[in-house]
Amino acid sequence: MSFATARSRAVKRVLFWVILFAMPVRSSLAHLSTRSAPLGQLGENAQVREALGWFAKNLGWINEQQARLTEIPAPPFQESQRAAAFKELLSAAGLNVQLDPAGNVIGELRGLNEKEAVVLSAHLDTVFPAGTDVRIRHDGSRLLAPGISDNGTGLAALAAIARAIHEAQIKPQRTILFVADVGEEGEGNLRGMRAFVDAYHARLKAAIVLDGAGTDHVTTIALASRRLEVVIKGPGGHSWSDFGMPNPINALVRGSVRFINTKIPTVPRTTFNLGQIEGGTSVNSIPYEARLKVDVRSESEDELARLEAALRDCISAGVRDEMESSRDRSKGKLEWKVELLGSRPGGELAADSPLLAALRAADAIVDNESRIERSSTDANIPLSQGIDAISIGAGGNGGGAHSLQEWYDPTGRDMGLKRALLTLLGVSGVAPEKR
Ligand SMILES: [Zn+2]
Repeated sequence: MSFATARSRAVKRVLFWVILFAMPVRSSLAHLSTRSAPLGQLGENAQVREALGWFAKNLGWINEQQARLTEIPAPPFQESQRAAAFKELLSAAGLNVQLDPAGNVIGELRGLNEKEAVVLSAHLDTVFPAGTDVRIRHDGSRLLAPGISDNGTGLAALAAIARAIHEAQIKPQRTILFVADVGEEGEGNLRGMRAFVDAYHARLKAAIVLDGAGTDHVTTIALASRRLEVVIKGPGGHSWSDFGMPNPINALVRGSVRFINTKIPTVPRTTFNLGQIEGGTSVNSIPYEARLKVDVRSESEDELARLEAALRDCISAGVRDEMESSRDRSKGKLEWKVELLGSRPGGELAADSPLLAALRAADAIVDNESRIERSSTDANIPLSQGIDAISIGAGGNGGGAHSLQEWYDPTGRDMGLKRALLTLLGVSGVAPEKR
């Protein structure tokens, strides 16, 4: 590290304490100036230091909670068992905990100013279907299991941070909500975060989402996406005796090839994925149905709309091609539809937001560097509604997310936990010490 960098970090550290104690309640800054300790003493807040030190002393417990939670299956739309276990953990951290109607676990730590709240969240669900073997295997320092990193890491960090704040008896300025939410992955379509933000919108000043491992990024730009399903239906029949009848799979293939050849821009970055295809019942039957699920993403809402329209045009043309080439029109016709399964709205955190400043200050304190990222996460929902939000990793290292080979290595997770805690306290603010 150069001298200049070291000095700029030192400046950032001082800035952090300024932010930590001066930022939280913008609407009542006048009160703050009388309530907050003088600047010189802020760096010596014993409670914050105690909370930071809690992690290193309890790494074994944190790793254990991660393994235990990961071994409770949480397939899409079936998170209730893991939610119940998480509720216990938050209750043990001294929080008032509720399950909301969506299935989210919400633990509340009241601040001096209860009219304003910040949220620290981690999603409960995994992409893995019921029946997946989620038992932990060990390989050196690595833990292996589907979901161990995404989002076992985020959940363990959420529980640990709640616990550290409780043990250090920190009273925040703004209320802190610790939320383990449902429905982040796939067709969950962010339903847990949507319900939570709907309910708390008026009080919510910032959202920090813990998702997966690492400390190398901060997602501040919410990538917009749409998930679509194509369904084509026909009469269906025998492969030999009904030959010539229009075939839904043929039509789907014809339409899909057209769609794959659609030109997409590199700027704004735009992607599509034909992710799941099904249909037919046996090799010697003309199928009565074919289905295809498509995910489209773009930095531009206009491109998303254009790609969705292109998919409809291509499928329509594929069906027309199949009908025109069928030898016997009397044997029935095909019907098709393209349905929107889900849509994740886009948004972007302002470069001068207090939340980003808090994250940068926390990075400086733990001596971390992170890059801005664009991604589709739970943070999409608050960001799309004008609420400051980021998504970050919760420390350690992981890989193979969404695969059966997923792994997590907790080595060095302490730094990620401190980074998240400091960012949280940076936006919640901390009440002056009583001790
Ligand atoms: Zn995740």
